[in-house]
Amino acid sequence: MTEKILSAGDYISAKCTKCKATTNHTIVAMVGKKVVKVECNTCGGTHNYRSEAAGKKPTKRKATTTKPATESKAQRAWEEIMAQSRPEDSVPYNMANSVTTGMLIQHPSFGLGLVINCIRPNKTEVRFQSGVKLLRCKLD
Ligand SMILES: [Zn+2]
Repeated sequence: MTEKILSAGDYISAKCTKCKATTNHTIVAMVGKKVVKVECNTCGGTHNYRSEAAGKKPTKRKATTTKPATESKAQRAWEEIMAQSRPEDSVPYNMANSVTTGMLIQHPSFGLGLVINCIRPNKTEVRFQSGVKLLRCKLD
């Protein structure tokens, strides 16, 4: 995202405390590249400028708090796989080795994984404890 260089006298959309809405404002004062004071073009009131980006952050945080639920679901799926698998039968993951669905592999960074899907010509979906990863591989 490229940031527009603003200066006093420019128009900017900001949340007006009096109008209780996002309205067009004229920049009154700036500190460096930061807008500090704006004048509302709707009500004429002058107030400190608060960037919209800062206000959007709580929404993002909310989105991340929903993640653990999905992670525990993945964890359960992983435990089910492990209950039916024999880790001693796993083969070391190697891009040059051919894999098949249902194969247990040992990845140097992700650990033990189960091949759940082979996507031609050279990709495979592998479920690791940390989640499903798309890996390059050789298919028969
Ligand atoms: Zn206003």
